[in-house]
Amino acid sequence: MPVLQSLDGPIVWVVDTRNTPGSCEEWDAWLTERERNRAASFKFERLASFYRAVHAGVRLHVAALAGVQPNQVAIDQLPCPRCGSVRHGPPSLVVEGTRLHFSLSKAQPYCAFAIAPFPVGVDVERGDASSIAGELASDAFTARELDAIRAHGPHEALRLWVRKEALVKARGIGFADAPSKICAIDDVHACEDGTWHVRDIVQGEALQVALCVPLERAEAPVCVKAP
Ligand SMILES: [Zn+2]
Repeated sequence: MPVLQSLDGPIVWVVDTRNTPGSCEEWDAWLTERERNRAASFKFERLASFYRAVHAGVRLHVAALAGVQPNQVAIDQLPCPRCGSVRHGPPSLVVEGTRLHFSLSKAQPYCAFAIAPFPVGVDVERGDASSIAGELASDAFTARELDAIRAHGPHEALRLWVRKEALVKARGIGFADAPSKICAIDDVHACEDGTWHVRDIVQGEALQVALCVPLERAEAPVCVKAP
């Protein structure tokens, strides 16, 4: 499996899950027990099938790249980089013994996911989610971000939110720190977990996607597979 072993930078997929081939029954066979339980826990069937389509889609796309079968792509978790707990660490992907860093983001009906040989964070939101980001404003953003949002409008709130999510995902800590304490305006972000580089990789009316990697890997080639 030379493709994944020789990976030198992140690969990012932006996927419309409505195009995921197959059925829920087929997809279920590829998921872990934990994922199947999660899918079964959704109250609404459309959310359950979206979840299945996302988690099956990850396997389909990575398997196609690696030249393996979808059921040979396993999603699991690394320990939390801050406290060592295995309950809330960043996700990881294992394909025939090769472990990669992995990040996954969902914005129904879309998802974005990234694999890399180093920590990586990706986030996607739909462009029409601006109003949601606007409502989050005061709790979600730093004073400097709020100034930028006032200057540039609601889409800036969405753009900054997506960058912030990518950042905390790469750090592997989620929002252990309040979102309003994390400023995502600058591309370079230094914090106790290291120094990180955030960039917008898809910017548009329909979708906004951001990617975050360790600063020392910021020059690594990024491959974006978008619809
Ligand atoms: Zn922790």
